[in-house]
Amino acid sequence: MIYPWQTDDWQRLQQLRAHWPHALLLHGEAGIGKLQFAQHLAQGLLCETPAANGEPCGTCPACLWFSQGNHPDYRAVLPEALAGLAAGSGDATDAAEKADGDEGKKTRTPSKEIKIEQVRALLDFCGVGSHRGGMRVVLLYPAEALNVAASNALLKTLEEPPAGVVFLLVSARIDRLLPTIISRCRQWPMGVPQPDEASAWLASQGVDDAAGLLAQSGGAPLAALALANDDNRALRDFTLAQLAAGPNCDAFACGENLQKLPVPLVLGWLQRWLYDLLAQRTAGRPRYFPGAAKALARCAQSADAAALARYMKTVTRQRAVENHPLNARLVFEELFIGYRGIYTA
Ligand SMILES: [Zn+2]
Repeated sequence: MIYPWQTDDWQRLQQLRAHWPHALLLHGEAGIGKLQFAQHLAQGLLCETPAANGEPCGTCPACLWFSQGNHPDYRAVLPEALAGLAAGSGDATDAAEKADGDEGKKTRTPSKEIKIEQVRALLDFCGVGSHRGGMRVVLLYPAEALNVAASNALLKTLEEPPAGVVFLLVSARIDRLLPTIISRCRQWPMGVPQPDEASAWLASQGVDDAAGLLAQSGGAPLAALALANDDNRALRDFTLAQLAAGPNCDAFACGENLQKLPVPLVLGWLQRWLYDLLAQRTAGRPRYFPGAAKALARCAQSADAAALARYMKTVTRQRAVENHPLNARLVFEELFIGYRGIYTA
């Protein structure tokens, strides 16, 4: 299944069918359904009786194997942390969100990188002929998870593409891909859907505050849906209330209440809030938290511009080390103490 906002991409892609590129790079914002689109595309390419518009039939042996996650001519390469998404179809988004949220609970964090061993295994797959006599399809998600060694190994394959193999790379961060990888792929940018189309879809999923959640997710509908179903919604609201308190933010309460949450999650809230604060100061409009416009205006008035700029850099630096095992409570205390520091008394 593809999402309603993807039909145009689907139709335009089918025009490539006669000369299908050996590597396609689907890229765009996180949370717009690129993975599901790529999986559907893979199924369409493998389907043995596809419709005229390239839609997989859903009933041939290839489609059945695909939906069970064991088509012999299909490989999905994902980081260990996202292994649950590798099946042919299913609730990919939910699983992705869970993969993100669960990591703090395990003693050994599963790898978030695509490793060279995974790419090497792929080369073996490419070396063998097609089992069903059709195309073979390799999905790489997310492509920015390829570490340097894995990227270089993949690059060799992309430079001399094996006959009959189609690579589908999916990325929300093409700025993190090797330029040489990008240049070997046909790029396919995918946009954020129109707000009314996204809102209508969210409403059909039973979401009531579609507009507000879409704003918080930068217009990405699946990210908005994940927010609506977020177990951490109460803690997010708590954090936003603390941020809205400006100089009266209780850093120790933040440390105490948020310590069980993954650091990247809280950093994401904080960064969006700061982004809106800066927008407010520069006469822009809040992008992520329009519902908190009043508090943002109040905070923007008493924040010191230079201190805000410095603090934003601190938060960005923290993002760079967010996946290291840190004491979350201390990290949060320090961050929220720093946040208070941007306000002049
Ligand atoms: Zn089929």
